[in-house]
Amino acid sequence: SGWWKAVEPAPKDPILGVTEAFLADTDPNKVNVGVGAYRDDQGKPVVLQSVREAERRILGKENMEYLPMGGSVKMVEESIKLAYGENADVLKDKRVAAVQALSGTGACRLFAEFQKRFRPESQIYIPVPTWANHHNIWRDANVPQRTFHYYHPETRGLDFASLMDDVKNAPNGSFFLLHACAHNPTGVDPTEEQWKEISYQFKVKNHYPFFDMAYQGFASGDTDRDAKAIRIFLEDGHQIACAQSFAKNMGLYGQRVGCLSVICDDAKQAVAVKSQLQQIARPMYSNPPVHGALLVYSILSDPDLKALWHKEVKVMADRIIGMREALRGNLENLGSPLSWNHVTDQIGMFCYSGMTPEQVDRLTSEFHIYLTRNGRISMAGVTTGNVEYLANAIHEVTK
Ligand code: PMP
Repeated sequence: SGWWKAVEPAPKDPILGVTEAFLADTDPNKVNVGVGAYRDDQGKPVVLQSVREAERRILGKENMEYLPMGGSVKMVEESIKLAYGENADVLKDKRVAAVQALSGTGACRLFAEFQKRFRPESQIYIPVPTWANHHNIWRDANVPQRTFHYYHPETRGLDFASLMDDVKNAPNGSFFLLHACAHNPTGVDPTEEQWKEISYQFKVKNHYPFFDMAYQGFASGDTDRDAKAIRIFLEDGHQIACAQSFAKNMGLYGQRVGCLSVICDDAKQAVAVKSQLQQIARPMYSNPPVHGALLVYSILSDPDLKALWHKEVKVMADRIIGMREALRGNLENLGSPLSWNHVTDQIGMFCYSGMTPEQVDRLTSEFHIYLTRNGRISMAGVTTGNVEYLANAIHEVTK
């Protein structure tokens, strides 16, 4: 006995802790705007029709054998078409090394391990702020972290000038983590013009762009539009890597299906890189799960199901955009003297409200509204039924 005497409880995860507290609250008016998962206008989790139909087609036919270490080759092919575009040259040239990953998190983690193994002296530049788990992922892969400016607290928009300075001042050949769209937690994305400038400067500096794309389609409702940053970098001839997740855009959260792709010099190098990614996966989890990959493949490879899915992604994105307008409208109608333009300017699942931790604490203690203390509101938790209540509470605590 006494083996684990020195083990202290781990600090609570700031995001998952919010849901725990919400569930424990018995107030009938309670609102959870902490969750990073889509809800319908009744506040219920959603399974997409395209996913249900794919399940129906698979039913009874699915075999439960292991996938290869790199996962479903068919799914991965469809996945990289979605990211890079059907007709991308890098696909025709077979220059993309890609493996199925345990959703977006697993794709990031595989890349971090790969980076450490083959670029052992490198660091990773991470935006401030970012999804908190990015820090954990690169920490556990033993890659030193640096930060770059991203969010401007006063404008609640992008601090483009400081971002560009940081890109210029980083040592040549640095690794940068970029959110492809719907930046989490800020909802602030560079414009197309700004992406072009970033891409140009990355060329000048020979930086490495790693794209985390957890929300393709979820930002604008259009999967090509949301991949614009990636397409700009491709056009400029960058060798990028990309982590894709089907958690949000297909609602496959718990199925853990995603993809990591790394663009290489040529087909031969892509084969080598893929074999190394598989080698990293093998001792960690051997091979990824079957079911989610089959669903993704069924949807993306069937024109009708794919069209239905595109419609459903747009419905989700539009509902969120609608709730942004409603939240801002309600705050303005209440006579709030503050500017709430950022609520509608920001995009994707989250609104970085600018509320202080103390204001968030009041939202929770006085109004039973749950969110992370950085003031991040998950727009997916906002409904026509609670938006007025939420706006009123925000108005009260920000007066
Ligand atoms: N990256 C970002 C920026 C995210 O917001 C998320 C989801 N919260 C992920 C990656 C990965 O999520 P998952 O592992 O569920 O795909």
